[in-house]
Amino acid sequence: MNLSDRLDSILTPESQALIRLVRTETERLDLPLYIVGGSVRDLLLGRAIKDIDFTVEGDATKLAEAILRKYGGKVVFHSRFGTATWTLDETTFRRLNVPLLGASAFPPFLDLISARTETYAQPGALPSVKRSTIDDDLRRRDFTINAMALRLDGRYYGQLHDPLDGQADLASGMIRVLHDRSFVDDPTRMLRAARYARRYGFELERHTLDLIDEEARTVLSHLSGERLRHEFDMIFEEEHPSSMLHRLAELDLLAPIHTSLQHANFQIPYIDILPGEYGEFTIPDIHTFKQTLGWILWLVPLSAFDIEAISKRLDFPAHLTKSALAGARLLAELPSLVNWKPSQWTFYLEVLPSISVYAVYLIRMEPALREYLVHWRKVKPAITGDDLKQRGLQPGPRFAEILHQLRTARLDGEVISREEELNLLKKLGV
Ligand code: ATP
Ligand code: MG
Repeated sequence: MNLSDRLDSILTPESQALIRLVRTETERLDLPLYIVGGSVRDLLLGRAIKDIDFTVEGDATKLAEAILRKYGGKVVFHSRFGTATWTLDETTFRRLNVPLLGASAFPPFLDLISARTETYAQPGALPSVKRSTIDDDLRRRDFTINAMALRLDGRYYGQLHDPLDGQADLASGMIRVLHDRSFVDDPTRMLRAARYARRYGFELERHTLDLIDEEARTVLSHLSGERLRHEFDMIFEEEHPSSMLHRLAELDLLAPIHTSLQHANFQIPYIDILPGEYGEFTIPDIHTFKQTLGWILWLVPLSAFDIEAISKRLDFPAHLTKSALAGARLLAELPSLVNWKPSQWTFYLEVLPSISVYAVYLIRMEPALREYLVHWRKVKPAITGDDLKQRGLQPGPRFAEILHQLRTARLDGEVISREEELNLLKKLGV
């Protein structure tokens, strides 16, 4: 099967319709159009394509303007890079007669990118960019397997550009940088290398491995917390984060970031998000959820002191620091809680972020944690505050104490009906 046929067979009809639309406009403007990077790599591997990166040789903002004029929607221009993001709204989809895309399919936006070269003023700095040819654009990339382009416009449809022989490395399973300064220019590439290696079961090519040296580690050690955290976030979105973190430890890339990260230990072999019964865990923003969960699973064996230090180094948002600390404390205290009653568990766990409870459940499989997440935290007495008011009780400490006792009795199975709760009230003198 040739590449254009493979493209047609692997893409959903919705994605194909969008590609046709972009093709038509680039042909009108006489701009060569390519898909590049990860989408070409995954196409050649016969894997599902997550997102499509479109690159034109020429001014992508012109293309975005033309598409906007014709089809509406919304365009955001990023002038530094000569790129534009076209977001399609529901009306645009209807007008185009393209079925609205499923959340998991192809996001309803397109990135339109101008082919460019990049130069690095200093190690680890953000690059300066200049518009250029597709071949130059491929030469600024991280690895040969990510440096291929597939042309889409007109009679060139399906033509592969592979100036760095990414196909050979894809076939032999090699992660290979494009030049010797690659990791010094951008040390995040070392983390990306471990991620791709473990995602695809590939090896770092011999010379590439040698380039992970003291100089590269030093630049890594000075990289901003935000850029580093983003790389780990991407690892936590993968299916096998623990294997990637192990590879990073083997390559001695964790200690330069923060010495305590060497002692972190991802506690389960993969992130296994349990199905819908976890209610609040089926939140639509599943990526952030997996990232937060990943961080907790990784950092829980550490002391509060180490977690706070790592949080500072990697510029954690406050909720993440709090969740990691809560998870670590729960994991450490778990052995002393095992004989507790449901009400004791519930009142203890309720003040913790539930994602921390969930993480510790995944690690220890303690049934009480599961019961808490699925049932106990939702248990309420049948008698409410309004009922108490009708009985002439005024809100205040005693009022709260009575509701608390009712809930305790419910949780511990001492009362199981409204009648039994009423009896309990009598006993309490209400
Ligand atoms: P994934 O499947 O994880 O999305 P991807 O290859 O699409 O993998 P992205 O992070 O989406 O990776 O980046 C798209 C492309 O941009 C990459 O394929 C690569 O060519 C290039 N790229 C991304 N990050 C870097 C980097 N730090 N240095 C050089 N090139 C990069
Ligand atoms: Mg991608």
